Amino acid sequence: MKRKVYNEVIYDEQTPLLNVPELVDNKTSNTVCFKSKAKDMEPINLPTERVPDWQNKAVELFGEMLDKYKGLRLFMDSCVRCGSCSDKCHYFLGTGDPKNMPVSRQELMRSVYRKYFTMQGKIFKNSKDCVAFDDNILKDWFTYFYQCSECRRCCVFCPQGIDTAEVTMAAREIMARLGVGTKYVTEVVHKVYTTGNNLGIWAPAWIDNCKFLEEELIEETGLKIPLPVDVNGAEVLLVPPSADNFVNTNTMLGYAKMFYAAGVSWTTSTFCNEGGNFGMFLNYHNYKTINNRILKAARDLNVKYILWGECGHAWRAGYMTRTLSGSMDFLTVKYPKHVCQFTNEMIKKGAFKLDKTANDHLKVTYHDPCNVARATTGMLEPPRDIIRATCNNFKEMHPDTTREKTFCCGGGGGMLADELMSMRMAGSKPRCMAVKATGANYLATPCAICKANFGESLKFWDTGAVVGGVHDLLSNALILNH
Ligand code: SF4
Ligand code: SF4
Ligand code: SF4
Repeated sequence: MKRKVYNEVIYDEQTPLLNVPELVDNKTSNTVCFKSKAKDMEPINLPTERVPDWQNKAVELFGEMLDKYKGLRLFMDSCVRCGSCSDKCHYFLGTGDPKNMPVSRQELMRSVYRKYFTMQGKIFKNSKDCVAFDDNILKDWFTYFYQCSECRRCCVFCPQGIDTAEVTMAAREIMARLGVGTKYVTEVVHKVYTTGNNLGIWAPAWIDNCKFLEEELIEETGLKIPLPVDVNGAEVLLVPPSADNFVNTNTMLGYAKMFYAAGVSWTTSTFCNEGGNFGMFLNYHNYKTINNRILKAARDLNVKYILWGECGHAWRAGYMTRTLSGSMDFLTVKYPKHVCQFTNEMIKKGAFKLDKTANDHLKVTYHDPCNVARATTGMLEPPRDIIRATCNNFKEMHPDTTREKTFCCGGGGGMLADELMSMRMAGSKPRCMAVKATGANYLATPCAICKANFGESLKFWDTGAVVGGVHDLLSNALILNH
């Protein structure tokens, strides 16, 4: 088989870079999100249809954001078109579409900026570098700012420090306030306000499922290991991604066993059983409102501290809690903490007996979720330390694709929608090829969305690996006292 190296990643020549024909449905193009519905926009405080005089409104909103976020103006002014970012985006590498080069994505916003907010735009009104905010540019914004997972990889390579994720967020904010959102993201945000979580699971179903998982644990271990819900005065409030309770249940079982072995009381909350925050993929108002719910749940349940579960963007949002939602001083641990940090501290203290050979059937590699690796600090080593403590066979991926240089899974940033399946598979290619090169049969990652996309893409790119959580490995290795 012919192989080539492209952007430090080995590709099989036989797998096309330009498209993923197996999944393309010509009727729907498979590259543009479905539009939001009025029934979801109204409850989340956004216009149900395109606002009147929307072009002028868009320029007004853009001006408002430039005044408020000085970094955005800096990003608009400081690109020197060096091209360093151009081949760093997984969506460009997977699709070959030049508009998916980060510099081109930024240009969609920068060209409008020049037209309305620079001298160039005022003097050279017909310059092709200065673009009016019209239907065509709005279509491009809707397409390409929803083909960016806000992963920030390109930013690592930009000599000017320009963060395309911030540009994408600003564009999505403007579109949302014009009444232009995506069906998937707005539906999920709406579900959080009605049920407390992204999946739309009502409280009785959440409680039932916790009981069901407790029975599974009795069957597996012979022990009554609780998955407590709404327990007032528990030590820890765990905010997992809701998917852990229904889809990635081995991860949820891992948390339960870990708390049991550590002797720490914990609870989930039916008011807020979701760490994920799709507001981050839509606009600031919803980002902040969703995050506020976590502090409210912690106050209502009188817990001592909050632990965020295995979810990449949940941790990015959670990490911002004190900026977004205010003081955490009412807690014993007054800052955001991730469950992997907590578990790792327990391991280091010697709180657990572990049998690594329980994972000997696995050849493990680790995916740094981009939101964990690049948008926060202190979380590069704890998941690796847990893996090393629980597995004998651990192999890192190529260093140019790990830690702060990690590739996004291809399904983040509000792009896990069914209609974007071909984009998701194309975008996952750099990561999947790096997994394949390790020969691993288990890809560990602390992110529910990564797990959802890899569930499809590891098969699509024929890697021979399955995906799972970090606490799944702990769950296998823990020796529990009877
Ligand atoms: S932030 Fe990530 S997805 Fe967006 S352009 Fe940069 S590399 Fe691509
Ligand atoms: S790396 Fe930075 S300065 Fe260079 S083209 Fe990309 S955004 Fe512009
Ligand atoms: S799903 Fe995972 S890799 Fe993809 S954007 Fe989110 S955290 Fe990053």
